[in-house]
Amino acid sequence: MNDVGNQTAQTRRPVDALQAPETAGRRVEAGLNLKPSGRVPSAASLDHKSGDRTVGQYAVDDAVFSCRDVNVFYGAKHALRNVNIDVGRKQVLAMIGPSGCGKSTFLRCLNRMNDTVPGARVTGSIKLDGNDIQGPGTDLVRLRARVGMVFQKPNPFPKSIYDNVAYGPRIHGTTRSRADLDEVVCSSLQRAGLWDEVKDRLNRPGTGLSGGQQQRLCIARAIAIQPEVILMDEPCSALDPIATARVEDLIEDLRESFAIVIVTHSMQQAARVSQRTAYFHMGELIEVGETDRVFTNPRHRLTEDYITGRFG
Ligand code: ADP
Repeated sequence: MNDVGNQTAQTRRPVDALQAPETAGRRVEAGLNLKPSGRVPSAASLDHKSGDRTVGQYAVDDAVFSCRDVNVFYGAKHALRNVNIDVGRKQVLAMIGPSGCGKSTFLRCLNRMNDTVPGARVTGSIKLDGNDIQGPGTDLVRLRARVGMVFQKPNPFPKSIYDNVAYGPRIHGTTRSRADLDEVVCSSLQRAGLWDEVKDRLNRPGTGLSGGQQQRLCIARAIAIQPEVILMDEPCSALDPIATARVEDLIEDLRESFAIVIVTHSMQQAARVSQRTAYFHMGELIEVGETDRVFTNPRHRLTEDYITGRFG
């Protein structure tokens, strides 16, 4: 069965508030009929020391991640500058901004995926539950179990549906018996909204599923090891609108248990799925705050320009 016509997709949250009106001959994205706030700092000078430059509240009370003065270099290229931001527990943080602004680079800092990029160097402090993950003593396998990742293109392993989901628990030894493992596979597929579609063909290859099903399989694989945080790098960009809707519904359900950080090019998606939004521009975190506030009353002119479609 493919994703089309699925009930979950039809019962998702209405997005009327986010429909794009035409205003002054230009399309206002994400809804948001913006008025100049009168409190917009100058867009000039992107070069002074940042952190204190970020507009909005970057700290939260119950942070799972606390990132301070994070800089990333690719060789001589300074790709991310002095980023300060927290990720709240059981919340979705959306990261938006023009291509090349550093969203994926920042996302990769959170599970040290930049370690795998030749020439990449990360400085600053990135604390997960109070412990800096930047130190040489960090167990990267354990870190990536606590901080799972879902990529842009669904990437099931060339294994059966069952073995895809069982992969993490087997590697990390989190189940004691075959019955335990069966239970984890079943519950992960249920939570990913895929169980009913695959329960009769668990031994078939994961790669044989539709694109949307493959992405939900990858989400099931990520949650099977009970991470604290799930990173999603444009998880819907290769999916059709119905499959996208299902993944967005799933994100809404998953945040009851996990913190989620999602990179998205779709401002409508950011507005639908997230509680906080961070706007990046040329390697700087320009603004962060409650999603509704950022989209309806952006405080920085660069944020306003981006969400009203003046550039991007
Ligand atoms: P975004 O996700 O916002 O599109 P990226 O994080 O991919 O942005 O890229 C931020 C900047 O870092 C860009 O200028 C990009 O060209 C550069 N960059 C990203 N990955 C690499 C890499 N592996 N090597 C060199 N430069 C890179």
